[in-house]
Amino acid sequence: MTGGHAIRGSRVGAGPMGEEERGEVAPRRQVFYYCTRNHVSAPYFAQDAEIPETWDCPRCGAPASQDEENPPPSPRLEPYKTHLAYVKERRSEEDGAAILEEALAALRERRRL
Ligand SMILES: [Zn+2]
Repeated sequence: MTGGHAIRGSRVGAGPMGEEERGEVAPRRQVFYYCTRNHVSAPYFAQDAEIPETWDCPRCGAPASQDEENPPPSPRLEPYKTHLAYVKERRSEEDGAAILEEALAALRERRRL
C-alpha cells in the first residue's frame, strides 16, 4: 500500500534559505581599467579600499589604467615580437626550404598510413 500523503515533519517554508542573509552587502565601488588592447576590466573594490593606479588586464595580462586615453605600455608584448623577429632572421632561406621539405615528408608519411 502506497499512500504517501502523511509525511511527518515536511513543511513548506520551514525557514529562510539564505536569501535574507544575502541582502546586506558591504558597500563596493566599481573601477574601470583600460589596457592598450582596448580591453576593459571593471573590478569591484571595497568602499574603503585603496584603488590601485594600474590593474592587470585579466584578458591579456597587460597593465591597464583608469585613463582610457592613455593606457600604460604593455611590456609583455615586446619580447614576443622580438623573439619572432629573431627566429625569422636566424633561419635562412635554405633552412626554410629544408623545414618545408621535412614537413612535406612527414605529411606524405601520414597519408601513407
Ligand atoms: Zn587587455
